[in-house]
Amino acid sequence: RIPLSSKVRALKPSSTVAVTSRALELRRAGVDVISMSVGEPDFDTPAHIKAAAARALSEGKTKYTPVNGIGELREAIAAKFERENGLTFTPDAVTVTSGGKQAIFNALFALLDAGDQVIIPAPYWVSYPEMVRFVGGEPVEVHTRAEDGFALDPDAVAAAITPRTRVILLNSPGNPTGAVYPREVLQAVADLARAHDLVLLTDEMYEHLVYDAEHVSVGTLAPERTITINGASKAYAMTGWRIGYAAGPADVIRAMNAIQSQSTSNASSVAQWAALEALTNVDATAAFVSGALAAYRERRDRIVSGLNALGLRTPTPDGAFYVMADTTPIHADELEAARRILDDARVAVVPGTDFAAPGMVRLSYATSLPLIDEALKRIGGLLQGQ
Ligand code: PLP
Repeated sequence: RIPLSSKVRALKPSSTVAVTSRALELRRAGVDVISMSVGEPDFDTPAHIKAAAARALSEGKTKYTPVNGIGELREAIAAKFERENGLTFTPDAVTVTSGGKQAIFNALFALLDAGDQVIIPAPYWVSYPEMVRFVGGEPVEVHTRAEDGFALDPDAVAAAITPRTRVILLNSPGNPTGAVYPREVLQAVADLARAHDLVLLTDEMYEHLVYDAEHVSVGTLAPERTITINGASKAYAMTGWRIGYAAGPADVIRAMNAIQSQSTSNASSVAQWAALEALTNVDATAAFVSGALAAYRERRDRIVSGLNALGLRTPTPDGAFYVMADTTPIHADELEAARRILDDARVAVVPGTDFAAPGMVRLSYATSLPLIDEALKRIGGLLQGQ
């Protein structure tokens, strides 16, 4: 046996692994499992973006690029921030990473010393607390409730601040809750950050997937202390291309570049050229995004009303492509509920355990309407058979 580092030994294995491996096992055995567990658009990457990648390949744009990304892409990202978010950055204040995940990791690595605390609204994306711990920091949860649509209460954020707090991590629209934070809430959080000299790390991966709300970039409210993370994965159906980016105060971005220069170097060159097309062929990309949004909206409405009709309480989320369903009518323990939904209804969902959402499971509706209808039928059958 080769001994592993204490850092790695402290990494929490994900409890979702059990459900995911069981789903794979069932599939291999020929059972038709409907997957509602993955956080990935079911649309293909738009043709104009794929064509740009093919062009880049044939033109030999296949070598190392600058660590922080090709200049053209950083300019396009700066222009995107100005156009869509009202944020002003020079291209040097932008860095391109291998997915949004790496941008968040690099930012936390750049900011945290041992024992520094990061405030994270819960339910949260599973990777946040693990990343914080991995770089020596301490996650501090601020709870939000399904009954309130997972709204963030700035007073609860204020109550969680200690002398060791360094960062407030925001994710709006949020995974897994779909909550979109309104301007007043973000303003109150930005005021707290300013009063306590904290950094705001904002993950805006789902910004384009907003239904009946307005997406506000908190960086417009406190530009001097905000690092904004975004990427191509969710908005342009580019999960496999691994393009994320971050922008913010120059010192932090420089530190993130230094970390990247000693770890992964640049994000894939071909994927960067594809992302450039996504951000500069504005009309073609906007047509794709609005088509996807209309489809997601219809699916959201279908799944929310379907689950509620089955007696599984599910708030209507304002953004992203997830719903959180109260599965206590199936079983009080969400792990057991998720197992039954998989084994007996053949629908793969994610138990809320790792999101800090007890009694709930997450369903992704980035899947077709007929599959959503079939999944609802199967879950209905499970409830009737109980
Ligand atoms: N942030 C959130 C909230 C996510 O849900 C995800 C993906 O699931 C990511 C970041 C990571 O995105 P990427 O594929 O760009 O690494």
